[in-house]
Amino acid sequence: MPHVFEPAPTGRAKCRGCGRSIEKGEVRFGERIPNPFAEGETTLWFHPLCAAYKRPESMLETLTQARESAPDREALERAARGNSAHRRLSRISGAERAPTGQAKCRHCHEPITRGDWRIRLVFYEEGRFNPAGFVHLSCRVDYFEGADILASLLHFSPDLSEEERAELVRACGDVADPPLPGRQA
Ligand SMILES: [Zn+2]
Ligand SMILES: [Zn+2]
Repeated sequence: MPHVFEPAPTGRAKCRGCGRSIEKGEVRFGERIPNPFAEGETTLWFHPLCAAYKRPESMLETLTQARESAPDREALERAARGNSAHRRLSRISGAERAPTGQAKCRHCHEPITRGDWRIRLVFYEEGRFNPAGFVHLSCRVDYFEGADILASLLHFSPDLSEEERAELVRACGDVADPPLPGRQA
């Protein structure tokens, strides 16, 4: 069966991408995958934008086949195209300030200092998104090879306060800014 967009019949299902509830009546995206544990297929439900970021190939495939049923098609397509360009981008699962100094960065292997911004990563395996550690926010340019990840970072960080979101935007801007012409580093 093809993947599908449809209104959620109940408010019970949680989105695989962000872990939050999908409201009753809200359009959801169903990705059909071979059932890893039994015969046949199973469906993974997502908020459409969460699927565009986390399962970009399935989203793009569906947008070409079921254009009419897609909500906000342009935004979905933009997010999915961006994230399909590099396999690491769909690992992004939000940003947070490190609550302890115990985790090491998956990119540079140095500890992430308590209080520093870090990016949460997940790996997709057999229908699940498993926690896969962190990278320093400052390692993002190297780890994601310069891709623009801010929109996806903010999307998967719904628990941040407005102030924290503003800080995150600023922190992303600071590192990514090219040096001004004529200014010596
Ligand atoms: Zn979601
Ligand atoms: Zn690092």
